Amino acid sequence: MRIAMIGTGYVGLVSGVCFSDFGHEIVCVDKLTAKVETLRAGGVPIYEPGLDEMLKRNVEAGRLSFTTDLAEAVKGAQAVFIAVGTPTRRGDGHADLTYVYAAAAELADVIDPGTVVVTKSTVPVGTNREVARVIAARLAETGRECPFEVASNPEFLREGAAIEDFMRPDRVVCGVDSESAEQVMREIYRPLSLREAPVMITSLESAEIIKYAANAFLATKITFINEIADLCEKVGGDVKAVAKGIGMDGRIGSKFLHAGPGYGGSCFPKDTSALARIGQDHSAPMRIVETVIDVNDRRKRRMIDKVLDLLGGKANGKKIAVLGVTFKPETDDMRDSPSLTIVPALVGGGAQVSVTDPEGRKEGETLLPGVTWAEDAYAAAEGADAVVLLTEWNQFRALDLKRLKAGMRGDGFADLRNVYDPEDLAGLGFRYVSIGRADAAPAAAAPAGELTPSS
Ligand code: NAD
Repeated sequence: MRIAMIGTGYVGLVSGVCFSDFGHEIVCVDKLTAKVETLRAGGVPIYEPGLDEMLKRNVEAGRLSFTTDLAEAVKGAQAVFIAVGTPTRRGDGHADLTYVYAAAAELADVIDPGTVVVTKSTVPVGTNREVARVIAARLAETGRECPFEVASNPEFLREGAAIEDFMRPDRVVCGVDSESAEQVMREIYRPLSLREAPVMITSLESAEIIKYAANAFLATKITFINEIADLCEKVGGDVKAVAKGIGMDGRIGSKFLHAGPGYGGSCFPKDTSALARIGQDHSAPMRIVETVIDVNDRRKRRMIDKVLDLLGGKANGKKIAVLGVTFKPETDDMRDSPSLTIVPALVGGGAQVSVTDPEGRKEGETLLPGVTWAEDAYAAAEGADAVVLLTEWNQFRALDLKRLKAGMRGDGFADLRNVYDPEDLAGLGFRYVSIGRADAAPAAAAPAGELTPSS
């Protein structure tokens, strides 16, 4: 099947490349000329493991191409996917649908009759019907006869494991309003149903809500274990043991139960915020989600305090090495990363911050002013009073800790991802703090007067 993909970001590019790997003929279109030029030259503008080889293979097979010309992309396409960004709207927390509706309006001038316009972007309930209305209004304005259908196909891939998630999804959700749209969606995903991935057909509204509900639920799970971690610190428990103990319960499951510095990234913060606003708009308040957002925001401040505690209460004059700034490992995505709150607070407090990240530097250089960039963890830690492990890249999971410590002038280690064992680190002479493990918490040892109050 011939398919056009509008938007070559993390979702559009991965989806386009994977669809072409199914055997479909895919044309990806983006407004950013530089991005399209990179792709045409065989480059990949984002870091996503495995994407470059799959892209190359399908371009060579003649199934995948890139353009900035929307008309060229959609010509002869049976389905056109909208995979543009839906960031948080400035000021009010709603999803900003400007890009989605702009793409829909542009499509009205160029799609072939019978095209199914599929929204893959994460969008609030009602958006797909509005996409249909926008296209119909533009067609009426131009007097062009062009029957079309809409479908909702939210995406659940995780950056860093996007290809695996796309090729082996837990489920594919398709919201449709007609049998013909259902048939097109089933045809697109047929290669996956042959692999027994369930394709769930539902209404447009249910599909839209499923995406937000899934992300909000996962964000809630993370936030829940983070609060349990705080309790563990106070009463002497170990959050890793607690997470394991509850995660083995099949009704709960072990995923998304890793205590840490709070969720970030391109989806959870904006999607929880949008869901809270959707609830308010429809007089169905999402009180759990509102609380999750609040608790997660405060958590970042708590993390800053944790690091300050380790430094005797103040950052001024201290040298701090930060390991990892992307919102999670195996991505170069910095959107809403906890590092964007924590690092500037340390820099603002007068610390000299040396940062290292395997893929985050390109984005991070503009987003984190005032830091110096180091090649690796050892270079970052040279002369440091404390190391802060913020993103658990593999490179930081098996550090030569003796070597790291030998280069430092101090002995602080804040492990905000619970990568290391408190006893091992103490044995090496580190003053070690982690998350939700009372035996590692420095609070009791730190002089109360020097602590910066939590927000
Ligand atoms: P992104 O910002 O990385 O990419 C969006 C791309 O769309 C950009 O390259 C932009 O230039 C392009 N674009 C915007 N308007 C265009 C237009 N009219 N014509 C052509 N190109 C246009 O966004 P993303 O992270 O890929 O997310 C896209 C959507 O998928 C969002 O709604 C997001 O919530 C959702 N989503 C993202 C993820 C993720 O992990 N990133 C996972 C699931 C769902």
